[in-house]
Amino acid sequence: MHIIHIGAEVAPAAKVGGLGDVIYGLSRETQKLGHQIELILPKYDILLTEEIKDFECTLKTFPVVYDGKEYKNTIWKGNIGGLKVYFIDAHHPDHFYSKGCIYGCRNDIDRFLYFSKAAWELIRVLDLSPDIVHLHDWQTAAIALLAKEKPIPNAKIVFTSHNMEYQGRCAPHEIERIGLKKSKYYVPGNMQDSVYPEALNLMRGALLYSDHVTTVSPTYAEEVKTSRFGMGLDSLLKEIGGKFQGILNGIDFDYWNPETDRHLTAHYGPRELPKTGKNHHILDRKGYVKKSLRNRLQLDESHRPIVGSITRLVPQKGVEIIKHAIESVVKMGGQFVLLGSSPIPALDEEFHQLKRKFADHPHVSITLLHQEELAHMIFAASDMFIVPSNFEPCGLTQMIALHYGSIPIVRCTGGLKDTIVDVDTSGKPLEQTNGFTFKEQTPQAFDAALKRAIGYWRDQPDTWRKLVINGMTWDFSWKNPTKEYIRLYENLKSQKARTKKVAV
Ligand code: ADP
Repeated sequence: MHIIHIGAEVAPAAKVGGLGDVIYGLSRETQKLGHQIELILPKYDILLTEEIKDFECTLKTFPVVYDGKEYKNTIWKGNIGGLKVYFIDAHHPDHFYSKGCIYGCRNDIDRFLYFSKAAWELIRVLDLSPDIVHLHDWQTAAIALLAKEKPIPNAKIVFTSHNMEYQGRCAPHEIERIGLKKSKYYVPGNMQDSVYPEALNLMRGALLYSDHVTTVSPTYAEEVKTSRFGMGLDSLLKEIGGKFQGILNGIDFDYWNPETDRHLTAHYGPRELPKTGKNHHILDRKGYVKKSLRNRLQLDESHRPIVGSITRLVPQKGVEIIKHAIESVVKMGGQFVLLGSSPIPALDEEFHQLKRKFADHPHVSITLLHQEELAHMIFAASDMFIVPSNFEPCGLTQMIALHYGSIPIVRCTGGLKDTIVDVDTSGKPLEQTNGFTFKEQTPQAFDAALKRAIGYWRDQPDTWRKLVINGMTWDFSWKNPTKEYIRLYENLKSQKARTKKVAV
């Protein structure tokens, strides 16, 4: 099969959060199984070009009509982790992709409507003839409409929402810029927003006009059909019924691998070498990474667990609990290491204040940056990892943490519920468990889970070690999720074949 993914991120060259990891991991696993994969991405000024091989211009002038005017584009081609990627460089006077960021610009709607139009035209002009065009998040939602208006023969559209909070609300006239009629789509029950009726909602368009819609975990797929989690899309998600499903994300076990990770100061794994070997327990080398992280962050070297958190600092992620956790962890005898960044100025300021408050603390480190390499070190050095989200479509950090031998403490919601099995409350034997969960979004509920985890770490080291090995050997790879996606793609492809037969 020939599959083209279109999205705003691809790790590690253009990554803000989980979206980049998912497009990278799913594409690589699908390609390994022999399918043809191509990706389309804007050519941002902040691309990490050292992560792109054979980066070259492939089409000098590629025209796109936007808002009634024709603009030139340059198309680049490159290879990210073995994947073929096309990059769109727009010669638009607003310099859409030269803003020093991926998202968060005043004109994001314009930037990504333009990208959507250009990406769809590119597939047509290069005559790529895909079986499946897989769209990711609101930034590419408009392609589902373009695909209905200007179809590419035999191409089916799959849309994945990685987070229903971000829907792409815009002024209704804005879709006219990509040649679509406002009067046709800005209609109740169609793309008119159900919460803000003066707005047009791009994600609604993708839900209505794609051939299939997925989200990133089975539990979240159920949650978003309720008014509490659906962010105004719950009724529509119920209406589209059978064409909507949840498929759990995975993580790329080549990229996230403590035995080979290029960012670590020592490598380790869950395997034990023959007793004659010098380093009999290769898991013990995790201790070297812990030591180097403490050194780097100037943390005290006493016998304490490191509790890590790596996250976008936005309300979804449970920032109140994260703030509370700093002192709680220290009180319970741990060290707290936070790596986060916030697109929200008030939250950013609050965390900078906390950073100043704990600047010389021997057991607290707060880094307010986006730093891939430090993230790998924290996953590896920490003993526990907190994910206290209010809601969580899937969450990748709890799976990465497990693979690095750091035990998750998570709130029981969305994908966290689908991936973490509580040591005490699940009723399962220890070898079928992998972490600690709490239900209520309160400091007390969080503290109770943290206390249980620290209790095991301190008082039952053998049990803890078993738990760490369970986590490291748990299969959160892309193997199973990819099989589900391929089944879905094949079903869609055969629908097309069936329709064709009937037509003949
Ligand atoms: P989301 O996509 O909602 O941000 P996920 O858990 O799905 O959350 O994915 C987060 C990804 O982004 C993980 O790979 C995590 O390591 C990474 N990440 C988040 N914040 C940072 C940061 N400040 N520095 C480096 N990596 C980060």
